Amino acid sequence: MIIDIHGHIGRILPDRREFMDVTNLIAKMDAWGIDKTCVLPVSEHPEGAYLEADTEDIIAACGYYPERLIPFCLIDPRYGNRPDMNFSYLLEEYKARGCKGLGEFLPKMDFDDIRCMNLYRQAGKSGLPVLFDMQDGPYSYGLCDNYGLPKLEYALKACPETIFIGHGPTFWAEISADVPVEDRSGYPGGLVQQGGAVPKLMRKYHNLWAETSARSGYNAIIRDPGFGLEFLDEFQDKLIFGIDSCRRSDVNQTPPIIKLFNDLRQQRRLTEGAIEKITWKNCKQLLKI
Ligand SMILES: [Zn+2]
Repeated sequence: MIIDIHGHIGRILPDRREFMDVTNLIAKMDAWGIDKTCVLPVSEHPEGAYLEADTEDIIAACGYYPERLIPFCLIDPRYGNRPDMNFSYLLEEYKARGCKGLGEFLPKMDFDDIRCMNLYRQAGKSGLPVLFDMQDGPYSYGLCDNYGLPKLEYALKACPETIFIGHGPTFWAEISADVPVEDRSGYPGGLVQQGGAVPKLMRKYHNLWAETSARSGYNAIIRDPGFGLEFLDEFQDKLIFGIDSCRRSDVNQTPPIIKLFNDLRQQRRLTEGAIEKITWKNCKQLLKI
């Protein structure tokens, strides 16, 4: 069994030929041996070239394959533009229609912006984990934070009811204590220095989880194989397998994160119990699916 917590449909990239309809997603899952996928909307945020992938599109698409696809919902925290905006009617409606989490949350805002904090709290109250993307720089998508992720820590402390699932280049660059300035929103390589914000915060806060998707998640695990293995082992109870395929044509190639877990299993470098937790059990338990 494998559950992918990070799937997409719609047009994520500007190239129209890469439009992913739901049958393309199912074809990828069949080709890669994925049993279930969480499908994440992105179109609610104006950042980036995200089209044809809002919560309504996702719920409708997942309805065709209820045994295989799990919808997430998304709300932009600037909706209403008030620090006390009440989102509960939307969250409850989406939950009633089968949504199991909020994400992919990627507005270009500070992680601790008062409007984001308001939405995190309400998502937590509704029992919906928040899957976020974090990326540096003013002209990209994704939440912003300073070195050492103090704004994320503030949110973890202030929203104990909310489970946060980390994803994205800046989040994963902070796995190491030395974060290269030029690569903070890229894919830093080389040995990981002990004391990085990500392991520190995951150790300290029950409500910080992480998922392995995209080049950023994969890179964080393989850049320093010894550290990566220890990281998977230590956090085997709060790591979730994810892929984040954004192209229709991805169906023709197996994502490296799948090969990585196949190798770990074959070479017995991680216990079978840990592999099962990361590749499906944690996700099933967290999302109650
Ligand atoms: Zn994504």
